[in-house]
Amino acid sequence: MSDAVDADQVVVALDVGGTGMKCALVRPDGVTVRTERHPTNASRGPTAVVGTILDVAEGLAEKARADGLTPIAVGIAVPGVVDEARGVAVWSANVGFRDVPLRDLAVRRLGLPTTLGHDVRVGGLAEARLGAGRGTGHVLFVAIGTGIAAAHVVDGRAAVGAHDAAGEIGHILVRPDGPRCGCGRPGCLEAIASASAIGRRYAELAGATADAPVTAAEVAERAAAGEPLAGEVWQEAVEALADGLATGQALYDVATIVLGGGLAQAGDRLLTPLRAALHERMTFHREPRLVAAALGDEAGCLGAALLALDAVGVRDHQEKR
Ligand SMILES: [Zn+2]
Repeated sequence: MSDAVDADQVVVALDVGGTGMKCALVRPDGVTVRTERHPTNASRGPTAVVGTILDVAEGLAEKARADGLTPIAVGIAVPGVVDEARGVAVWSANVGFRDVPLRDLAVRRLGLPTTLGHDVRVGGLAEARLGAGRGTGHVLFVAIGTGIAAAHVVDGRAAVGAHDAAGEIGHILVRPDGPRCGCGRPGCLEAIASASAIGRRYAELAGATADAPVTAAEVAERAAAGEPLAGEVWQEAVEALADGLATGQALYDVATIVLGGGLAQAGDRLLTPLRAALHERMTFHREPRLVAAALGDEAGCLGAALLALDAVGVRDHQEKR
């Protein structure tokens, strides 16, 4: 760690998703000085996507220099299975990656130390250090979108796991007779409580009376407006989530659970019933604080930057900001 952080240092940070890349220049104190968005266009295939990642990263480094800033590292976050130690994107369905040595490719192109991270783990890192979990040493970040994944962050570090697969909280079994999950097994948490599962369940129950596909946000809205079917589906999801989070709390005993991803945008429509359901499930376990994520979709980019800064030994005291 270095206390002497130059004011002009920045990290080139990219958060690569299935549809878009969020990119930024981030200072060691966690402040973003430039942001860019680029389409991923994953259908072009992994080689083209990697080409775009490297072009964008190089472009950002050049822009930083043109502004009198010094790029000191590159942080890239991708979804799927990420081998952080080797810097390899092992597998990612929605970006089309299979054993892509992204770190080495970026080092070769940019000549800067590069860190590869997992999108949800770095998102959790950012929320724990700069966002809704700030000031607490033990944080569980749970991202609920098309799937459900988590990051367990202790003292500002996210556990990776022995096989790079920590945090797969979406595949906790909560309903043995429940719908089949994308992983092949019935009853996983994400088969019931992910945003896509909620929309699907509502459409299924509404049957022929269903209009266009209904999103989880709309289900939440209809439930709040008193529609019984939506209320039922929403409550099912809340109960399943509470079961999953209670298991998470039994395992990790965190101070704060931060909910992120699309579903967390439901705000109190999610948090209020979920707090109550989680409270009911606590026996001797201490109840965690349950809050919505604070950094929105910037979390991945900020987290990629933090991971890169950690790797080069620059860890400014972001929490004092
Ligand atoms: Zn599963």
